[in-house]
Amino acid sequence: MAYDSTNIFARILRGELPCKKVYENEHVLAFHDINPQAPVHILVIPKGAYVSLDDFSAKASDAEIAGLVRAVGEIARARGLTEPGYRILANHGRDANQEVPHFHVHIFAGRPLGRMISKA
Ligand code: AMP
Repeated sequence: MAYDSTNIFARILRGELPCKKVYENEHVLAFHDINPQAPVHILVIPKGAYVSLDDFSAKASDAEIAGLVRAVGEIARARGLTEPGYRILANHGRDANQEVPHFHVHIFAGRPLGRMISKA
């Protein structure tokens, strides 16, 4: 799937749409999800144009990959999520219901999150 530069997160990265920013560095932007599924629901996205984890894991540089993973850990530590716990999730493609075609990692926290995934 080719990257669509009109997707919502590309527009946020270009400053065309607002976001509630949580964190930013050279490789990464993180912001609050507009429709939170838990008391804490943060999205961490690479600044580069990658459709999903499939694309990111195949094409991103080691620095971009390390930058994103380190950012997720840093955000969680900075927000005190390490001890109570948190969950990360990344959807790829149809069966996972990926809605926005720019790679993003969800961070969920703030309540007991149950086990794994819905059976529905
Ligand atoms: P996914 O199903 O993994 O593609 O998740 C996309 C997520 O993006 C959903 O949780 C949406 O609530 C969230 N989302 C969509 N538009 C925005 C936006 N403008 N700002 C923040 N989050 C958004």
